[in-house]
Amino acid sequence: MKIGFIGLGVMGKRMATNVLKGKYELAVFDLNKDAVKDLQQLGAKACEAPCEVAQNSDVVLTSLPNSAIVENVVLGENGILEGAKEGTVIVDLSSITPKTIQNIAKKASEKGVEVLDAPVSGGAAGAEKGTLTIMVGGKKEVFEKVLPVLNCIGTKVNHVGDVGAGDTVKLVNNLLLGVNMVAVAEALTLGVKAGLKPEVLYDIISQSSGSSYALTAKYNNFIAKGNFEPGFMIDLQYKDLQLAVDTSKDLKMPLIIGNLAQQLFEVARAKGLGSEDISAVIKLYEEWTSIKVREE
Ligand code: NAD
Repeated sequence: MKIGFIGLGVMGKRMATNVLKGKYELAVFDLNKDAVKDLQQLGAKACEAPCEVAQNSDVVLTSLPNSAIVENVVLGENGILEGAKEGTVIVDLSSITPKTIQNIAKKASEKGVEVLDAPVSGGAAGAEKGTLTIMVGGKKEVFEKVLPVLNCIGTKVNHVGDVGAGDTVKLVNNLLLGVNMVAVAEALTLGVKAGLKPEVLYDIISQSSGSSYALTAKYNNFIAKGNFEPGFMIDLQYKDLQLAVDTSKDLKMPLIIGNLAQQLFEVARAKGLGSEDISAVIKLYEEWTSIKVREE
């Protein structure tokens, strides 16, 4: 089985490297020529456009920034669909709206091309180690066909339903992450403002009912050290909350806490914190209360 990979960014270049380590033949494309060269040096074939990747592959993986770009790379001029043949499988690893991938799958099916949405969780570290969680939507038999490839990049690879189901699980997960991150920032600041040491709060709460991934993953390595190098960038968290907001509007469902959390990340972006880790949202509370939630 020949594999293609489009989008060699923070996640994509690491995942593509692991596909190569799995001894698959790999064709790659990215607008960033340096990223393509890096993969070429590891043995991948460099292509000039998404359609050329598709011509050289049975399965094309994509890891791209947002819905509009994925749509363009698959359906646009010189896109994957132009180079694909009947039976080609497109596996989108990006986090995008379920509606977008369902539309792409419908158009692809007219050419006999199969589509899976397979967003990932686990960040750059998980992509590097090949230990991502992958939630896959689409036909079960297509999922089974590409499973050996997905096993090169993830250790928890789950089929969760029809096309769009993977992106839905992912946006629900990242809605919770965003909301929990803001809650951790607000709650820790309250405790410190009330006179407690932040590590006392952390030690007790991380073992209590108020604990969450946002607290345990983001306190010691980020907030306590005043280190806000991502990790997971505020801009990406903001985009993922937008996926939840858009989906809630389509479903006519109020998303009160999700919208509030997104607005806090919007304030952080307006202050120039978009490229910092999501834990940097605590800087807003620190400014409003004139304290620091860490030992200086
Ligand atoms: P990134 O911005 O680092 O990488 C995106 C890559 O796509 C870049 O190399 C860019 O040059 C390329 N690209 C953009 N437009 C293109 C086009 N038209 N044709 C070809 N290449 C194009 O982003 P990332 O952090 O790797 O994230 C990729 C996806 O994975 C996003 O949907 C993101 O939400 C999701 N994700 C990211 C993380 C994370 O921690 N970074 C975790 C889970 C999921």
